[in-house]
Amino acid sequence: MTGNDELRDRFASAFMHNYGVPPVALARGEGCAVWDVDGRRYLDLIGGIAVSSLGHGHPALVEAVSRQVATLAHTSNLFLHEQEVLLAERLRTLLREPARVFLANSGTEANEAALKIAIKYGRTHGRGYMVAAENGFHGRTLGALSLTGKQSIRDQFGPFPLDVRFVPYGDADALKNAVTDDCAAVFLEPTQGEAGVVPPPEGYFRAAREICSATGALLVADEIQSAIGRTGHWFAHQAEEVVPDIVTLAKGLGGGMPIGACIGLGEAGEVFAKGDHGSTFGGNPVSCAAALAVLGTIERDGLLGNAVRVGALLSEGIAAVRHPLLKGVRGRGLWLAAVLTVPRSAQVQAAAQEAGFLVNALQPDAVRLAPPLVITESDARVFLDALPGILEAADA
Ligand SMILES: *Cc1c(COP(=O)(O)O)cnc(C)c1O
Repeated sequence: MTGNDELRDRFASAFMHNYGVPPVALARGEGCAVWDVDGRRYLDLIGGIAVSSLGHGHPALVEAVSRQVATLAHTSNLFLHEQEVLLAERLRTLLREPARVFLANSGTEANEAALKIAIKYGRTHGRGYMVAAENGFHGRTLGALSLTGKQSIRDQFGPFPLDVRFVPYGDADALKNAVTDDCAAVFLEPTQGEAGVVPPPEGYFRAAREICSATGALLVADEIQSAIGRTGHWFAHQAEEVVPDIVTLAKGLGGGMPIGACIGLGEAGEVFAKGDHGSTFGGNPVSCAAALAVLGTIERDGLLGNAVRVGALLSEGIAAVRHPLLKGVRGRGLWLAAVLTVPRSAQVQAAAQEAGFLVNALQPDAVRLAPPLVITESDARVFLDALPGILEAADA
């Protein structure tokens, strides 16, 4: 029995059934490579779901986290610390707007904070309901789940106490009809991540901004997957030149350390009063130090440009592959989905793993790539060279 099989068996007995049993037990990583417990090497093209921005074992991240954990690992919100102040200031600078920050531990918690702001804002202004998109994903806790437009993961836990109305993603007219003067907030991903890396039609996010401004609803940009360089911008909404009222962040921000952020721009940053919200671990010094290292390294090493360059190489390279299983590619920067002609993404993921590449069977017909922002052109070429063989093996 391999080390992988042994650990998978133990995982299967010790854990609840919610994740199934993942295919590989990882032991260590370096840059864009990871090794499993049997010593097999893989090129990591999924980066812990768009989380490991700097890849694995990046010296800046290791140094920042090690130094901080040895200096002061935790304060709670009874006390403040310099790392969280530096991080909030840095995020405000990157947003280029007056803003106030709340730090949480995860994406779903960032959205819970946004939801509480929207509820309070709505009560103050006599507005009741929320609008979100069909097939959208905002998290698994009950508030965020009530905004999540994927029936298979929400219906069995409903009904929810919030009035959320769903609209087809990308349809500006439907959004306009759904958002009245009674709507408190509109929650949207700039590109739908979990739905299959699905970008909206050009101008959709700008239309959403106009609709919200005309009615007074808050526009919440769920940038938990799309921000921190993933699309070649600090925030995906910056490409549209749209300013949301609230931005939520998590995944790539901590480079692997758990952290989430809910950022209120302008009035939305002033909604919470003392005592309205909190988190014991949120904004802990180690995660904040990690996030500062991530943001500093992205800037110093020009990783936004790298995401654009290597992203284009990957996207064009996938588009150039001629294979009956492959329909095309969508997404931008280092956030792509290879779209299949038939629902065989699980077979593609398995064949890729067999060939030494970690990718993600996101939807039955979509395979997600969200590699570390430090991925090189030569890594991308190695994958592109292997892709026809992977598709061939998956088609067998
Ligand atoms: C991953 C994700 C979330 C949930 O984040 P967790 O950290 O898993 O709670 C919410 N919204 C979007 C867009 C995401 O991609």
